[in-house]
Amino acid sequence: RSEAEAQRQKMEALGRMMGGVAHEVNNMLQPIALLAQHLLDAGLAQGEAREHVEVVLDCSLKARQIIGDLLTFSRPATRLAQRHAAAALMQDALRLVRPALPAGIALVVQIRETLPDVAIERTVFAQIVLNLATNAAAAMQGSGRLSVTVEPMPSALPIEAPSLAGGLRIRVIDTGCGMDRVTLDRAFEPFFTTKPVGQGTGLGLPMVYGLVREAGGSITLQSQPGIGTAVTILLPPAPPEEMPAHGHHPGH
Ligand code: ADP
Ligand code: MG
Repeated sequence: RSEAEAQRQKMEALGRMMGGVAHEVNNMLQPIALLAQHLLDAGLAQGEAREHVEVVLDCSLKARQIIGDLLTFSRPATRLAQRHAAAALMQDALRLVRPALPAGIALVVQIRETLPDVAIERTVFAQIVLNLATNAAAAMQGSGRLSVTVEPMPSALPIEAPSLAGGLRIRVIDTGCGMDRVTLDRAFEPFFTTKPVGQGTGLGLPMVYGLVREAGGSITLQSQPGIGTAVTILLPPAPPEEMPAHGHHPGH
């Protein structure tokens, strides 16, 4: 518990710092992308110059993607999320995941029919799933099976976390390279990545961790090198819907 709290505070401090930097850098990337796009659209760059401008545009868009991640990561917490049907949330998220998966990866989806509603923003949920799927795809290097399951929390689970009782269990399982002990231990650490420079920020899982915690949930990793990785997310059920006020008139 207190370790999780310390982790959360570190994350918040880091988030505030990165938010500031991200805004500044974003302001500078904006004209780079726009002007490069303008050079291309107006036909002002030809031949080799055109190719160079295309590289500039491509890199500036990639940089903006990374900055976008940073901004999400550092956005202020504690907004009250609306309740959503879990199946619809996952279908929404998968609409983003499908086009991002290489053709050699089979997506196997199991969404149980009766599920509790959860209180989490649609975009936040999608971001979580997309991040996990992106990691899984990278670990599978173009071929394998990505299975996504959504089911009610098994009743045996939540003894140590009573607020999760009656909640939702989401699992994202891949047949990728898996993680060795060190990677598994450090996977949630901000900036920890095993990917080459330019391919990983090391902020995906810390961000996912922060978003899941913010929604009152928990996340665990299981991994076997050479076999694959399973990410399990537990989300608490949405609080009961408020009863319409009835026969009670404060004031007067
Ligand atoms: P990034 O993807 O930018 O490296 P993440 O925080 O998303 O950063 O992940 C951190 C590290 O955890 C990755 O570099 C990788 O080594 C490991 N990892 C995450 N997800 C998986 C997965 N599904 N399979 C194997 N390794 C993973
Ligand atoms: Mg990642």
